[in-house]
This record gives sequence, C-alpha cells and structure tokens, in this order.
Amino acid sequence: MERIFLTKYIIITGGVVSSIGKGITSASMGRILRSYGLKVAAIKIDPYLNWDSGTLNPYQHGEVFVTHDGMETDLDLGHYERFLDVELDGLANITTGKVYESVIAKEREGGYLGECVQVIPHITNRIKEMIRENSESADYDVVLVELGGTVGDIESQPFLEALRQLRNEEGRENVMFVHVTFIPYLNAAGEFKTKPTQHSTKELRSVGINPDVIVCRSQEPIDDALRGKIAHFCDVDYEAVVNTPDAGTIYEVPLVLEEHNIGEFIVKRIGLDIEPDSSKLDEWREIVKSLKITEPTVNIGIVGKYVELEDSYISIRESLLHAAASIGVKANIKFLSSDVEELDRDAMSELNGILIPGGFGERGFEGKLDAVEYAIENNVPLFGICLGMQCMVTQFARLNGYPGANSSEFDDNLEFPVIDMMEEQKKIKNMGGTMRLGSYDCKIVEGTKTFEAYGVIDIEERHRHRYEFNNDFRQDLQDKGLIISGTSPDDFLVEIVEFPNHPWAIGCQFHPEFKSRPNRPHPLFKSFLEAINEFSKN
Ligand code: GLN
Repeated sequence: MERIFLTKYIIITGGVVSSIGKGITSASMGRILRSYGLKVAAIKIDPYLNWDSGTLNPYQHGEVFVTHDGMETDLDLGHYERFLDVELDGLANITTGKVYESVIAKEREGGYLGECVQVIPHITNRIKEMIRENSESADYDVVLVELGGTVGDIESQPFLEALRQLRNEEGRENVMFVHVTFIPYLNAAGEFKTKPTQHSTKELRSVGINPDVIVCRSQEPIDDALRGKIAHFCDVDYEAVVNTPDAGTIYEVPLVLEEHNIGEFIVKRIGLDIEPDSSKLDEWREIVKSLKITEPTVNIGIVGKYVELEDSYISIRESLLHAAASIGVKANIKFLSSDVEELDRDAMSELNGILIPGGFGERGFEGKLDAVEYAIENNVPLFGICLGMQCMVTQFARLNGYPGANSSEFDDNLEFPVIDMMEEQKKIKNMGGTMRLGSYDCKIVEGTKTFEAYGVIDIEERHRHRYEFNNDFRQDLQDKGLIISGTSPDDFLVEIVEFPNHPWAIGCQFHPEFKSRPNRPHPLFKSFLEAINEFSKN
C-alpha cells in the first residue's frame, strides 16, 4: 500500500483518571481512517523508566504484548494491531527508559561533545526523532501518538513538551491533539460533572497545547447541553466534543465515534484530501454485529494465575471472541485461578473448553496440570499456550511413565526435566529482553489436527519464553502417543503437540493470540472454537 500524504499526526493525551480507554479510543480513530483507505500506524509512549514492559508484573500493567520483531511492549499495541490490522514494529512503544538510554549512549560516544546534555533540547529532540523514525519506517499517512498516563504527571512533562514542538515543526495543519477525559456521575447530586475535564484541559493548555477534540468517556451517555458546556469552557468546537459511553464491545467504539462524525472532523482538521465516506466502515459494522450475538453460547475457562486482572490475558480473551464470532457463537469466558491444588470440579463441569495460558514461575503450575488431567479424563477440548503447552507435555509425561516429570524452570535437579532450558539461554544472566522473542518460522506436520486448522505447512508465530520441550524425551513420548504436530524448520525445536485419542487437545510453544484480528481469527483459535461448539452439543 502506497501512502497518499506526508505523515500527519494525531496526538492523544489523557485527563482526569487513567484506565478510561485511551488505547481503544486511539485505535478506534485509527480504524476509521484505515477504513477510509489511509495507511495508519500508532505509537504508544509510556513515560516509565523501564526500558520495555517485559519485566513488568502483569498484575500492574496487564499483558505484555510481543511484536513480530520481538519487542515486549504495552498491551495497547495489541489494540492497535487488532483495530488497524497492521503489524507494528517494537519501536512503536517509546519509553522514558529507551529515550534516556539512547541519549546517554550518544553522550558516551562523544555525540554531543562540548555540550551540556539536557532534557530540553536533547531529550525532547530524541523523542521527536523516535516518533519520526517510526513514521518513516513505512511511509504512513497518519500516525497516532498516544501518551500514557494523565496530563499533569511529572514524568510526562518532557513528552508533552516534545509533542508541542512537533506540532510547531510539522505545522499546525499537520498535527492535531485529542484529549480523552472522564465525566463522572455523582449519584448524590444526580448529575454529571464536567469540572475535572475543565481542569485537565487547563493543565494541558499550561504546557502550550490546546486540544482540537475532547473525547468524554462516561458510564452513561451525556446530553448535548453538557457537551456544549465542555466546548465552551474548554475552548473547542461543539462538534469536536464527543461522548463515548461504555460500549457493549470495544469494537463498537469506532462506530460510536463515526456517528459523531469524528472521521470527517479529523479529515478536515489535518487536511486529508479524501472523501470521509462512512459506508467504508460497513465491513467493520458486520464484524461488530457478529461479535454482539448473544446465543448460542459456549463456556470457556481460562485457567491461569493472573486471573485477578483480566487484562493479563487480554489478547487471549480477544482471540477467543474473534474466533467465536466467526463461527456464529458467543464465548462466555470464565477466569479460574490455577493457584490451587485441585480445581473446583463443579466449576470445571460447566466448561465446554479449557485454555491454559502462558505464565512464569511455579505458583499455579500444579493447578494447571490438574486442568490438563481434567480435560483428558473428560474429553474436553484443551488449548495450551506457551507455559500451557509445557503443562500438557509435563502431565502427559507424568501419566506415561515419568512420575514427577516437571520443567527445569521450577527445579533444576529433576529426574525427568521434560521441559528444559536451551544451552544458549543458560549463558544469559540478564532478565530483560533475553528470552526467545518475536516471530519464528514453524513447520506443520501433515495429517495432524494442527494441519487441519492451518491448512498450510509453513507458518510464522511469535514467541516469548526461555524453556523448551526437552528432546531427550521426544522419541519415547512419541512412542507413547504424543503427537508432535509442529517443529522449527530444522526439526530441532518442538513447537506444537497434540494429545492422541482426544477430540481436540493442542499445545503450542508460541503465542498465537498476538496475531488474531476481529476480521481474521487465528486458525488455532478458530479450530478450538469449532471443536468446543461440536463438543458442547454432545
Ligand atoms: N515460563 C515459561 C518459559 O519461560 C513459559 C513462558 C510463557 O508462558 N510465556 O519458557
């Protein structure tokens, strides 16, 4: 796809509180422009000092999203990839850590000889440079830049200053600002309150940024008079105050924004010389319709240890929803904590399918093995992803002549380490960015269920792990029935396994969930859902 325009920028800031869906709002605006036929990318700025999200606990920041080039990034990149249907480079996640690291490295090389290196201009220049490098990497028409956190945070200051400068350098006609805020409803007063939005807009103006659009998030719709009040106090056009109340599905947000003619507003504001034709979103409307069906339903259990924060498994959840919608069912997803010796059998008996996601560390491992055992005994469709696949191999080994089989991740003195660390990994001492990360080729074995799902032999999937299937046990476990349905092209690494005599039990060492799109469900998820649908009718 060729770009039509020199890159235009839409910068998204947040006000009032965090977690109001800035990522979804950004992705949704991007979706509208993408549907109009533009080449769109998105960048997430995280003002924390961590170099990447890889070392962050999922409880705090939710899932770590892995890009095709092996960067461990913020989960918002997952929203962007799903809504925009693009593959973003890892550099699309800019952190304070990355900015400072590169500036300090340049200073050590003598890159600023004689100069005193400062936040302004060196850090701010580097931020702009990183934004532009991203935009130039694939000649995008429009790049959305979402600044994490809320306006007023100390750590966002250099970024806001850089973004203001960017507007000046690129020209006002090429850069616009969207401020996403929250409008609380006070039960006692019986009304919505706009004051927090007024304050955060004022805060934004104090750093020289006037928003062009204010997206008001709220639990219920707000009325036009209130929108007028916000336009008046925050000094934006009335039609540029849009309200996105909580939606039934996140995929509906582009349609809500489109109803407010936000696409048309953006097109005019940054001078995109195209026709903002709403019918171009019809395909998206169809997808949303299929995602909103309410029956027939199937119950799928995700058995993991980070279940208290559903965002920890966000790409898996979305992949299940995409796959379910594509075959005309609704997936009821239940999160079950694996941090137990034995899972509650009553809860398990309600499940039509079981998914064991990835994870790190021993806690919750035995509960996951119990889920595998339950699935085997009851012929319930079972999908193991990364650590989930390692659980499947471990439990299969335990049931087939290797009592106490386990992964070396939890014990380095095992008699049967069926999951073990590769020699190259053993030499690595650092924790950040040192796993097997990003896209790797894989070869599927014909005649397997996995092949039925993919329909092709050569695939590419994203990884994030240190441990692998131990080849010392490969022949024997195969003799006992374990099916190896995918390997690295040189046949050295086991990438996918299947259980024999089971309706559907597939485990993969990679993370298929990063490649599912609402318009293009991942083949393994789709096949899993088909099996579940079949099984739930029996
Ligand atoms: N902890 C396991 C490993 O490092 C699995 C990782 C994961 O599930 N992402 O191999």
